[in-house]
Parts: sequence; C-alpha cells; structure tokens
Amino acid sequence: MTISINAAFDSGNIVVDGIDGTSARLSIRKDRESDFFQWFHFRVNCAVGDPLEFVISGLGDSAYPDGWPGYAACASSDREHWFRLDTDYDAATGTLTIRHAAESQILYIAYFAPYSMERHHDLVASVAECEGVTYRCLGTSLEGQPIDCLEMGTGDTQVWLYARQHPGESMAEWWMEGALEKLTDPADPHARSLLRKCRFHIVPNMNPDGSRRGHLRTNFAGVNLNREWDTPSAEKSPEVLCVRNAMDETGVDWAMDVHGDEAIPAVFLAGFEGIPSLQPHQLDKYKAFEKALAANSPDFQTELGYGESKPGEANLSMSTTQLAERFGAVSMTIEMPFKDNRDLPDPVQGWSPERSKLLAHACLATLDQML
Ligand SMILES: [Zn+2]
Repeated sequence: MTISINAAFDSGNIVVDGIDGTSARLSIRKDRESDFFQWFHFRVNCAVGDPLEFVISGLGDSAYPDGWPGYAACASSDREHWFRLDTDYDAATGTLTIRHAAESQILYIAYFAPYSMERHHDLVASVAECEGVTYRCLGTSLEGQPIDCLEMGTGDTQVWLYARQHPGESMAEWWMEGALEKLTDPADPHARSLLRKCRFHIVPNMNPDGSRRGHLRTNFAGVNLNREWDTPSAEKSPEVLCVRNAMDETGVDWAMDVHGDEAIPAVFLAGFEGIPSLQPHQLDKYKAFEKALAANSPDFQTELGYGESKPGEANLSMSTTQLAERFGAVSMTIEMPFKDNRDLPDPVQGWSPERSKLLAHACLATLDQML
C-alpha cells in the first residue's frame, strides 16, 4: 500500500516531490511574494503499522536553519492532542527526516500544533459573548479578513496584547486562547483585579491571511508585519495600520507582542533598550516584570535570548520598540520555543499548546502584581 499526502486545507503547506510506498520526499512552499519558508502542515493517509518516513529537503535555505538541530516534528491523529515524532536533521544536506510507525489511518504533521482560522473564529465568538466584553473589528487584511479586537476591563491603564504577526508562530495564538480564558473566568482573582485596573485591547491574530495560507512570516503581499510599525500602509500592511491607529486613539501603557522563536529552546522576553527617548522608569518597570515572571513561572528564564540594542540604535519598525518610543509604553516581545524548553523538557510533547496557555496565565498574574 502506498501512502498519500494532502495539504489543501487551512494553514496547509507541503510540496510532495515523490512517494515510494510509505516514504515521501517533501519540500516546503515559500510564503507568497517572499523567500521565507519554514512552516509545514500536511495530512498523511496510511495504514496502521506503516513504517512512515518523511524526508523534507532544501532546509539549508529556510528562514532559520538553526531551527532544525534539536527539533522534533509535531503530530496528531485527532487534531486535538499533539505529540512529537522521532526527527533527525542533517545540516550538511539541509534534510529533516521524520520517522513514525503509524498508529492511525490519518496522521497530521506540522511544524507546531496549528491554530486554525476556524478555531480563531470560535475563540472570538465565544469571548465576545462574555459579560463585559466589547468586540471591535479594527480593519481588514489584504484578502479581506477581519482584524478582530476584544476589549474588556474598566480601569485606566491601557493594555494591548497582540499576537501572530508572524503567522507560522501558532503558539502565539494558543497563548492568546489561554489569556482570554483567564480574563473571562469570573472566578479568577487575577482577572477580577486586572479588569478593575486596566482596559484590555486584545488582537489574537494580526495576520489572518498568512495564517490561512500556511505562511511562516509574512502577509498576502509577502510583507513581514513586524517591520512595518514606523510606516504602515494600506497597500502593504493594513493589518498594522489599523491596529496602530486604534492604539493612537487609546494610548498604550503596557503591551505584549506574542511570538515563537525557531532556534532558541527557551521562553524569553525582548524589550526596547535602544529607543531614542528611553526613560529610566520605563525600563525599570520592564526589568521588574521580567524578574517577577521568572519567579512566577519555571517555564520562563532570562539567560537565553536576543542581545539588547545599543542606546539610540533600536529598530523602530518593530512593534515593541515603536510602542515604547511612541507612547512611552512598557512594551515587550514574548518568545516561546518551537523546540522544547531546555530547562524543563517534555520528551512527549515538547513546547505545546497547553504550556503556551499556562504561560499566558503566568504573564497576566505577573502584570497584576506589577500594577
Ligand atoms: Zn515572530
């Protein structure tokens, strides 16, 4: 029996270069109008017991070649529970080999547990029904999908949470699901306290077109949205333009931009150290948040991460630095791993939707502590 492979669905991405029995040679399609590629998501039809082998080649030219060593592919037979597969990377040839003895007739394999646009709509609709929540459509993407924003809370501190500027970083929307569940839980003491102190503006998915198309990093026009925040345009980046315009109306006191990192096996924050108008108290609050989060969640750490930019050298096209400069906000980028958390590994699941959601809970508890 010969397996078959299909990726013609929401966030699907794979090119089938050849199938021989239960082995397949594969490659990854680039984001539209760009050279970025790394996200993959496909379905396998097979027989129970098949010795499946998938060889994905050409990865030396992928967006983050350092993302492959130490990485294990994600899989699910029910599209609810995601586990890791036996995976090897050969850096000399840029080839990832995934092996699995089939335990089901249908197996989904992806770079990380996907977060579908259908699940996004379920999330937005269910949260919009909760007491005290206001739904706003801030604008539309290039392909006409809504940029959804959920608002809640009666306080004066303006908090913006937004995720998935990079659509392949699906853990970012799992984080959002965790954050929204916590904030709409009437029994949760942190939520009750935060909603008295803050007005939340939450954009769970900044890049619905890239999400649906199975992109790693860009929107329909091949634009990296997190390099558009100084000069967003209706032609190239309406997703950023509409969110930034809404931020200009409310102001921003605190902001979190939620991401995943391909190479670094850890959860970490990136800040705004190099902005021209850096204020000491602004940086102190950021550092205090980082320290408190490390105390609140063993999944968070401060050793691994990106280098800080030098004074005055911050790239203001990125959202975190733009918001810190524009509003004096305490803004931050939170990064979760595609691999596993080196300090607290889980060989079965690696970093997972479940852990992403719990990290969001810890971030909100920490924010409550800080305010
Ligand atoms: Zn990212």
